[in-house]
Amino acid sequence: MKSFFVIIILSSFFLNLSAQDATRLCDTWEINQRAMKLNPNAKKAIQDLKDFTSTYKENGKQVYIIPVVFHVVHNYGTENISKEQILDAINVLNEDFRLRNLDTMYIVSQFKGIAADCTIEFRLAKIDPNGNCTDGIERIVSPLTKNANEDTKMAAPAWPRDKYLNVWTVASIESGAAGYSYYPGSVDGSWGEDVDGVLLLSNYLGSIGTSQPSHKRTLTHEIGHYLNLMHPWGNSNSPGIADNCYEDDEVTDTPNTIGHTTCSITAETCGSLDNVQNYMEYSYCGVMFTLGQRDRMHAALNSTTAERNNLWTTANLIATGTNDNYTGPDCIPVVDFKAIPYSGCMGYNVTFTDFSWNTDTISSYNWSFPGGNPASSNLAQPVVTYDTPGIYNVTLQAGNATGSASMTKTAYISSIDTTTGLNIPIIEGFENVTFPLASFADENWTTTKTGNYGWQRLATVSYSGTACLSVRNNGNNIGDESVLISPNILTDTLGVNAMIKFNLAYAKSSAESSEILRMFVSVDCGATWKLRYSRTAANLVTNGGAYVSNFIPTQSQWKEETVSLSTYSAYPHIMLKFLCVSGDGSRLYLDNINLGVPTNIESTVSNQFGLTAYPNPFEKTTQLEWISSEPEKIAILITDVTGKQVFATKTEAVEGLNRFAIDLTTSPKGIYFVKLYSNKESATVKLIQL
Ligand SMILES: [Zn+2]
Repeated sequence: MKSFFVIIILSSFFLNLSAQDATRLCDTWEINQRAMKLNPNAKKAIQDLKDFTSTYKENGKQVYIIPVVFHVVHNYGTENISKEQILDAINVLNEDFRLRNLDTMYIVSQFKGIAADCTIEFRLAKIDPNGNCTDGIERIVSPLTKNANEDTKMAAPAWPRDKYLNVWTVASIESGAAGYSYYPGSVDGSWGEDVDGVLLLSNYLGSIGTSQPSHKRTLTHEIGHYLNLMHPWGNSNSPGIADNCYEDDEVTDTPNTIGHTTCSITAETCGSLDNVQNYMEYSYCGVMFTLGQRDRMHAALNSTTAERNNLWTTANLIATGTNDNYTGPDCIPVVDFKAIPYSGCMGYNVTFTDFSWNTDTISSYNWSFPGGNPASSNLAQPVVTYDTPGIYNVTLQAGNATGSASMTKTAYISSIDTTTGLNIPIIEGFENVTFPLASFADENWTTTKTGNYGWQRLATVSYSGTACLSVRNNGNNIGDESVLISPNILTDTLGVNAMIKFNLAYAKSSAESSEILRMFVSVDCGATWKLRYSRTAANLVTNGGAYVSNFIPTQSQWKEETVSLSTYSAYPHIMLKFLCVSGDGSRLYLDNINLGVPTNIESTVSNQFGLTAYPNPFEKTTQLEWISSEPEKIAILITDVTGKQVFATKTEAVEGLNRFAIDLTTSPKGIYFVKLYSNKESATVKLIQL
């Protein structure tokens, strides 16, 4: 028995290597255990439904029609499955629950007599909860399609569960399962209203498209749970255990079994032939429900538990447009679209793709591209050139015979001016209180996030100066991404030995913390990115590895990372991107990004600016003076004798004499170095604060 489990664990591990394959069929037991803890109604509701089921009298006549809504949660990937695939899935359900599946011919003779027509049918909703036209499929864009869990349902909220069976389809599931659903009792009462239904991998839905025939019964299995069926071996997720012979699925005609993960149809594990071909098995060869399972599902559909008894009422079928002969209008589209790439160098081409949904019959496109060429288009997939630098909106109006709708994505397209931006060297300590906005618009950084918390300036923690950037990972979901993108960086003076340096601090909050920090470089203004640096949690930690829930680094708990950018000396401009992927750990801190700063500037740089400070020595304040030969951007950096940065800023110098006041009131007395940089020159002077 022991070696058997080793094999299972190893095979799960290898299966995991393939991106979207489930490591096991179903997590219904786990998710219902969780609901039992969280839902105050659950215990009583489960008992009530058990009592109701035990006295329920089946008449065998009623056909139960269940309105269904699919929430396709996607991020424009293959998980945005086709309507054909969803219709195929509905077809599979209607075969399986009506015993119209062709493979009933393979049912072993001992079970042919109890293979049930469950008289349950499924129809895509045609009227939504607000009384509006729907094709029964919502397409919701969210990064939570990856590593999906119960939070994913908040991104694509459930429709009222007394009117619809909610099915969410996703790219991957956090637990590694192919899907899961709730027993009615677990979600009875208001706690369950937001989560009741089925969550399923998109490539386990139906038999076509991204799915395959061997996956198509996963939804049949999960809806079995939704209608109160357990696994044949009992209420657990542990098939193959001898003790399962003493567990019960509360259905009289399913023989006791230890449960199966392979299709061994002659197995007799508890003294009689097992019903290995049952949909509620893990055998991947299910072809039937039993009459007892049918009656148990009918009881669930006639019980008030989790409002299943309203789904199939005539009034609800009319309310959801699923009654016989209801055709309804073709729905007006819900407009969506995507640009690839949405950022690029001035003059770049963008391909726009229509992702509108709720209809198959879009007949007109009316695009508007302010700042683009062409400025409008009627194509489904236009290509647009953005010659003039700027940030632009895009609008699409799409229509069919019923009507039209439109959507505007604001600040969606970035056409980057490659002639302006940050000059080398770059010293970014996040000291500017308006960060990510800079004094000059072409020097603005940008931040985006998929979770609750992205890169945020923190004025209470720093490696140098008084501020840094930080991501509050423990307030995000696992997999949430926080992105920091630099402005265009002019790299004319980037030498072949160029390095980017930055300081970071991080601690895990548990053994499972799985943060990732990555740095990318783009030479085409953000259209494409090349990975230059990647560290996972174990290599990011700067506190020796202790688990800390709210990590605040001391000065010694920072480390410096150095990445060679020598391959970019041949490019006239680059952009940098820092990506933090949250993994339920503590905060990640970033400070003091330096690019192209000479390491031994004190000894090598001549004072071409004529830089002086007066008074010097000084108390608290002094004034810098220098001569610029033309209007130019100047970076000013002050470090102490240990090299620690105490002040950094940028200013626009005029041609001729420039002055800049320095205030070191909050810094201790001692020796400091002021360094001035322009695109072409640099200089340094020593300051003495008394
Ligand atoms: Zn299951």
